[in-house]
Amino acid sequence: MKNPLDRFYKMFSNDIGIDLGTANTLVYLRGHGIVINEPSVVAVNQKTGQVVAVGAQAKDMIGRTPGHIKAVRPLVDGVISDFEVTEEMITYLINKAQKISKKMLGPRVVVGVPSGITNVETRAVRDATRNAGARQVHIVEEPMAAAIGIHLPVHEPVGTMIIDIGGGTSDIAIISLGGVVRSKNLRIAGDRLNSDIIAYIRSEFKILIGEKTAEQIKISIGSVLPNHTPKEAVVKGRDLITGLPREVVITETDIREAIGQSIATLLDAAKEVLETTPPEVVSDVMQRGVYLTGGGALIVGLDTILHDHLGLPVHIAEDPLTAVARGTGVILEDIEKYNDILLVNEDDTPPQI
Ligand code: ADP
Ligand code: MG
Repeated sequence: MKNPLDRFYKMFSNDIGIDLGTANTLVYLRGHGIVINEPSVVAVNQKTGQVVAVGAQAKDMIGRTPGHIKAVRPLVDGVISDFEVTEEMITYLINKAQKISKKMLGPRVVVGVPSGITNVETRAVRDATRNAGARQVHIVEEPMAAAIGIHLPVHEPVGTMIIDIGGGTSDIAIISLGGVVRSKNLRIAGDRLNSDIIAYIRSEFKILIGEKTAEQIKISIGSVLPNHTPKEAVVKGRDLITGLPREVVITETDIREAIGQSIATLLDAAKEVLETTPPEVVSDVMQRGVYLTGGGALIVGLDTILHDHLGLPVHIAEDPLTAVARGTGVILEDIEKYNDILLVNEDDTPPQI
């Protein structure tokens, strides 16, 4: 039955979708689209415990602020590592979205979380969202949201495979009939590739580079397949012996070597998920193929090697970094349709104390 207050809520409250990523947080505001896309970083004053900045502004503060201001990533491995900071971050996002929509009442919020999240963690996300002012909280697994975001028919009895490679975690999931049939969440994703590159350059070239530099090299010259004309990059770092700045030329082959092991683990994990999936579902997946989402979908050549490794068609989702956020938006358009797939689907019940 429709809630008689629906019209009232529609006028004074808004609907918000949040993709709480380990690297990037996106907010979808119904009727507006994606209105916030910021790094998942919060700057905290350690003396007072107060949050001084969130998102890009906080990221810019890293390394440039007095010692007592520390930048934290509240969702290190895809789960809430610091509850209070996460709550502050969600509050900030909700307030910002409210300002854009100019509506006063607490919003309905759909939040994406990594697959395989524990009940305790799910409740933590729910409570943080509630405390941040949400009137209703709905929680969806990110691979499911991504599938919805790229308009896959999740309710139909046909299996599809989603591989979402984010910053802290990768989600590998087989979806059919509105549910996650099999899934695996692993901590090998973009951040790991960055640290692989740091470790490799340290051991091969004896220089130390920072995380930001490693990420830039990964994005500019990284590829898991050899190119005809290998790309190169000049990298500045600190010489491990002299302690002075030094430049070296890194090639794409170096990067491939550096990240090889992690990529192999990722490929094997995908294979393992397929191997434990019921045969009827696998035959669907063979036909429909695999969809890559998240920033890691943009790793050059990944689609090709995945295809070779799994023997399935592999598609890179359009605009893979926004798939989850767009999915929360699609859900908000018709929450009832997606009732069955939501992990938490809570009405206006007051928070439990
Ligand atoms: P999360 O959902 O965990 O916040 P995202 O889906 O936003 O993660 O992806 C962020 C990750 O994607 C980062 O590790 C980033 O380095 C990586 N990434 C973004 N663009 C590219 C690219 N072109 N090539 C390789 N990796 C990329
Ligand atoms: Mg993500």
